[in-house]
Amino acid sequence: MSSFPDLLARQLARLGLTDATPPDAAAWQRLLARVRRAYADHAEESYLLDRAQAIAARESADLDAQLERERDLMDTHVRERTAELAASEARFRSFTSLGSDWYWEQDAGFRFTSIAGNTALYPGHTIAAHLGRTRWELPEYDPPAEGWEAHRRLLESHQPFHDVVFRFRVPNGGRAYAAVSGEPVFAPDGTFAGYRGIGRDITEQKLAEDNIRRLARFDTLTGLANRSSFFEQVDHAIARSRRTNHAFAVLFIDLDRFKDVNDAFGHATGDDVLRSMAQRLQKAIRARDSAARIGGDEFVVVAEEFERPELVAEFAARLLDALGEPVLLRGQECRVGASIGIALYPADGEDAQTLLKRADVAMYRAKEAGRNGFAFYAGNDAPSSEERMVLAASLRRAIDTDQLLLHYQPKVSLRTGVMTGVEALLRWPHPERGLLLPAAFIPLAEDAGLIRRLGRWALRAACRQAREWSLQSSDPFPVSVNLSARQFTDDRLVAEVSDALTTAGLPSRLLELEITESAMMEHPDRAAEKLAELRSLGVRCSVDDFGTGFSSLARLKKFPLASVKIDRSFIGDLPDDADDAAITTAVIAMAHSLRLAVVAEGVETAAQVRFLRERNCDEVQGYFFAKPLPAGEVPAFRQRRANPAVAAVGYAD
Ligand code: C2E
Ligand code: MG
Ligand code: MG
Repeated sequence: MSSFPDLLARQLARLGLTDATPPDAAAWQRLLARVRRAYADHAEESYLLDRAQAIAARESADLDAQLERERDLMDTHVRERTAELAASEARFRSFTSLGSDWYWEQDAGFRFTSIAGNTALYPGHTIAAHLGRTRWELPEYDPPAEGWEAHRRLLESHQPFHDVVFRFRVPNGGRAYAAVSGEPVFAPDGTFAGYRGIGRDITEQKLAEDNIRRLARFDTLTGLANRSSFFEQVDHAIARSRRTNHAFAVLFIDLDRFKDVNDAFGHATGDDVLRSMAQRLQKAIRARDSAARIGGDEFVVVAEEFERPELVAEFAARLLDALGEPVLLRGQECRVGASIGIALYPADGEDAQTLLKRADVAMYRAKEAGRNGFAFYAGNDAPSSEERMVLAASLRRAIDTDQLLLHYQPKVSLRTGVMTGVEALLRWPHPERGLLLPAAFIPLAEDAGLIRRLGRWALRAACRQAREWSLQSSDPFPVSVNLSARQFTDDRLVAEVSDALTTAGLPSRLLELEITESAMMEHPDRAAEKLAELRSLGVRCSVDDFGTGFSSLARLKKFPLASVKIDRSFIGDLPDDADDAAITTAVIAMAHSLRLAVVAEGVETAAQVRFLRERNCDEVQGYFFAKPLPAGEVPAFRQRRANPAVAAVGYAD
């Protein structure tokens, strides 16, 4: 049996069949039946298997198809979503790049993790430098208004914030401003993940705002504080002074010759002068002081913490020096100068308004005292600016209605003792204030723009009076008229003088003009021309107040002048003051060498007369011989001096 496969050998053995056994028909039949059944079973199994396979294949194909459909659907979905996302991102990108905004993110430690959008505000502030750092670690940033501490506290409490303004330096040295808003970001599990937000460049807006603020507080022309911030400064000074118990001073500064500059050179030059005066002030004051411009050519300085008024005086003198330096106007050196009035807190006033008013009153007194000086407030006897306005209006009326007067002060020859001429001096008989002297109204006339009318009035009135006297005498005497600097520089002067002479019918040799040294020296070249024109009219001119200016007699050499009047400040202390004596002696000698006559002003004593006569001074004028007299008293005075016995007075001792 070993030659059959095991399975067949076992079946054959069950049927009793072996290799050796001859076939038994029944056994054979049984064998065949079994074989048949085995085939049938197999066929059935294989059928079932086929069917199962077919069904499985069909189902799997269905599944595939469905999967395919679902995948397609998914793809479409994804494509759509992606497109939407891309569109929204593009929108975001174009918003942030077209607008002035940028978008930023920070991690939980407030360090920048991204900055995108319009980052043009960060020139050189490269974004890379921001990344990984907090705002307060970036040296270019100034803290926000509330300070870094408070800002960090807000971030640490995970609060949103809106429009916090950050200022930071940009490489060109400028400043940029950003308004930044941010909100906290939380992870899905609720843990804090950082901040994100936007930033907006507000530099232009900020600068415009600052500019508006500055304009409201500062004078555009000079950059100094303006009137309203001056009042604030004084209020601060008052508060500080109450704390520290230190006095402070308000200095009211008015330029002396600003109107002349404006008239002669025009407003643009006038503006330059104001600017340069403002700069000088700014330079001359100390860090704790402040300066403001409160009107055309009016400045104020608040000078803090003075222990003694003398120190304020020193300070004022320093300011005057600075303002008195020459300015270059179209290549010419001119001195503008200033007068300063000082009011002290708390002695002179306890509020800004009062202090300013009193400093103004003091300033006016400084002007009266001869300009380029300073004065402390000393009681309410000088007019305030409102009173001056009223006064100016009534002065105008007085000129127009011929209410002014001229008094005439005789000049006496030291050689013969006779009256050689008179000087016409303005007087204003004021209805309430009495007879006002020029010092009380000439500065006012200059400030109010009335000086030319005033001068013209004096010139015409003096010519009329001189003509009258000339008709009464066989030996007529000249009348001197003072010219203000403004009148002297006016182009119409020569025509006006000639007109006044013609109208009055006065021979030109009977008119003399007195021009101050400083008026001549303001524009020496033009002065020389003007004097030559006046001389060709036949009018003689003299230098008034000689010695008070900066010029030397040598510089006067080129001017066609008839005489020099030595200022009365040199005469008053003669003969005791050695300096004044030396100066007076030298001036007389030098004037003579230039063929100029010398007149001494303000001669009050016999000793002065003697001193001057010994030095060959030609003429004197002063209370010693006569005060300025009303016109009606002049002929009698002259008559008396013509008497040799009287004329000798002042010579004998
Ligand atoms: P000034 O031209 O130097 O006039 C001389 C001043 O000295 C006058 O003052 C006169 O009164 C005063 N005086 C005369 N003798 C003595 C004396 O012995 N002792 C003292 N202490 N003073 C004496 P006044 O009249 O007050 O005039 C002051 C200034 O006003 C004049 O100075 C002159 O610059 C100016 N002024 C007067 N009238 C006119 C005018 O019509 N036009 C212009 N532009 N200025 C004038
Ligand atoms: Mg004079
Ligand atoms: Mg004089």
